[in-house]
Amino acid sequence: MRRFIVVGGGISGLTAARDLADAGHDVLLLEATDRLGGKLRRGEVAGVTVDVGAEAMINRRPEAVALATAVGLPVTHPTAATSRVWTRGALRPLPRTLMGAPLDLDQLEASGILSPEGVTRARHQQVPHPDGDVSVGDLVAARYGDEVVDRLVEPLLGGVYAGQARAISARAAVPQLLDLLTRDQISVPDPPTAAAPVFAGVPGGMWQLPEAVAAALAGSGRVDVRRDVVVREVRRTPEGLAVVADQLGIVSVEAADGVVVATPAAPTARMLADLAPVAARELAGIDYASSALVTFAFRADPDVTAAIDVGASGFLVPPVDGRAVKAATFSFAKWEWVRAAGLDKLDHQTDLLLFRTSLGRHGEEQALQVPDDELVRASLEDLAAATGLTAAPVDAVVQRWGGGLPQYAVGHVERVARIRAAVAEVPGLAVCGAAYDGVGIAACVASGHRAAGEVAAAG
Ligand SMILES: Cc1cc2nc3c(=O)[nH]c(=O)nc-3n(C[C@H](O)[C@H](O)[C@H](O)COP(=O)(O)OP(=O)(O)OC[C@H]3O[C@@H](n4cnc5c(N)ncnc54)[C@H](O)[C@@H]3O)c2cc1C
Repeated sequence: MRRFIVVGGGISGLTAARDLADAGHDVLLLEATDRLGGKLRRGEVAGVTVDVGAEAMINRRPEAVALATAVGLPVTHPTAATSRVWTRGALRPLPRTLMGAPLDLDQLEASGILSPEGVTRARHQQVPHPDGDVSVGDLVAARYGDEVVDRLVEPLLGGVYAGQARAISARAAVPQLLDLLTRDQISVPDPPTAAAPVFAGVPGGMWQLPEAVAAALAGSGRVDVRRDVVVREVRRTPEGLAVVADQLGIVSVEAADGVVVATPAAPTARMLADLAPVAARELAGIDYASSALVTFAFRADPDVTAAIDVGASGFLVPPVDGRAVKAATFSFAKWEWVRAAGLDKLDHQTDLLLFRTSLGRHGEEQALQVPDDELVRASLEDLAAATGLTAAPVDAVVQRWGGGLPQYAVGHVERVARIRAAVAEVPGLAVCGAAYDGVGIAACVASGHRAAGEVAAAG
């Protein structure tokens, strides 16, 4: 039996800790804050518990759904409500796309998202032949023109990465797009109606996933979870590795046979500065975007239900339209459990409708440097302009995610390969998390599995 340390109690670290415990090892999990879960977090809005961080997991790859099921959580799927794009003065249906690259040009034209000139350019497709990695925006612009990037790719990438289309690597973020758009002929079959849903969730909220994993760890008797412990350094010792841990000012050194570092790039870089300097330098070059989510509860009065089209799951907003919000998610229309959670909630007799807006893109951090009230006000102004909603909310809760999402810049895949090569030179060390091979929950779970396997296999 060996002893491992996992640094970081987000979903990546929790996954690694669980795998190591399941393999019969002792694990010490160190989390800097007083709460496990990282970007999976719950909040209370007008007495209803909802996600104020990540709210869905991809269903078309197995890792996150498999983890949820393994720790005893039920899995649900979004309703049939579809998204809109708020652009050129109206809410318009989102046509079929692959991260904004149109898969049906007739649908795109009918949506009214592009100007007539934009449609003409999109139809005059030019096949790009990029030499190496290229940004998603440059790739799509070369094939369909700038307007497709500005009005479709930007809002979709803004949703997933809070990033800029012309900076994010196609190879790292949407490798299928490189393959698709560099072909002469694009043939994408219509999705079969019985295809598996793209997304999944957990009734009651995704925040339950880390909590259920943590409960399983506690039940295993093999994992010691310590909160409020900031790891400052990972160092080599004659016997293996050790971490320098700071628990509310009291510094200790914890020895282990192996260490999994499951923290964002900046703290990981600091921890590895001496132990793996090449990896640390590369990690320090990964930028992060900040964003904020405002979750609202509205009384389900007729003027509110009339304004919010319940056929829509929400809308995305292209940056060129100059609005404050980049998206709105009508959570009550997207998730049956959110609608149910709002029933009879106000004074036990009036239904509440919960939904959220999101604000903030990479490079636009100053827009978030205002008081919470200002983010609420700007969101309500945009909601009113988009939907006609003028009622006052019963409650509004702001959750900020400073440095929440890593930006996979052009060259990211090569950067990650250099990081992994440098980390592999330190026996017993592994890294995982959103900084490497995908920011989504499923990718993070996969990276946690991989890191646990790597340290367990070493020595
Ligand atoms: C607002 C928002 C919405 C999102 N929505 C979705 C979604 O709907 N679906 C989806 O699939 N993905 C979504 N994502 C992405 C996804 O949630 C995250 O990428 C993922 O949860 C990251 O998990 P992680 O464990 O790698 O990192 P984190 O969740 O960041 O966890 C890292 C942990 O390490 C701790 N830590 C940091 N430094 C130290 C240190 N020095 N010592 C000890 N501990 C430390 C932190 O406190 C944190 O708990 C969203 C992200 C954001 C920000």
